[in-house]
Amino acid sequence: MADNIFTKIIAKQIPAKIVYEDDRVLAFRDIKPEAPVHVLIVPKREIANVTAARVEDENLLGHLLTVAAEIARSEGVSDTGYRLVINNGRNAGQAVPHLHVHLLGGRALGWPPG
Ligand code: 5GP
Repeated sequence: MADNIFTKIIAKQIPAKIVYEDDRVLAFRDIKPEAPVHVLIVPKREIANVTAARVEDENLLGHLLTVAAEIARSEGVSDTGYRLVINNGRNAGQAVPHLHVHLLGGRALGWPPG
C-alpha cells in the first residue's frame, strides 16, 4: 500500500469529512477549501495519477466523473456550475500522489487557472 495521506483516509486511519462512499470511490471535503464547495473524489484503488492509469481503469475513471456529477447535485451547485480539476504531475502542482478529482463550486471561478 502506498504511504500517502489519501490512502490513509481511504483506510480510515485519518479522519475526513466524507460526503460519498461506495466500493470503488471515496469523496471527502478538502482540508483547505478554495471554494465554498471543494470536494475531492478519489478511487480506492491505488493509481498515482492519470499518467499511471491503464486501459483496465477506464470504467473507474468514468465512475469518478458520474460520482462527481452526483455530488455536485447533492451539494447544490449543479445548476450554477462547477469545475472538475485533476492536477497531474509536478508542473500541475499535484501534491498528493494518489489520483483525485477536485470538485469546486459555489462561486464564480476564474479562467485561465494560474
Ligand atoms: P493536489 O495539489 O494534489 O491536486 O491536491 C491535493 C489536495 O489535498 C489539496 O487541495 C489539499 O488541500 C488536500 N489535502 C491535503 N492533505 C489533506 C488532508 O489531510 N485531508 C484533506 N481532507 N485534504 C487534504
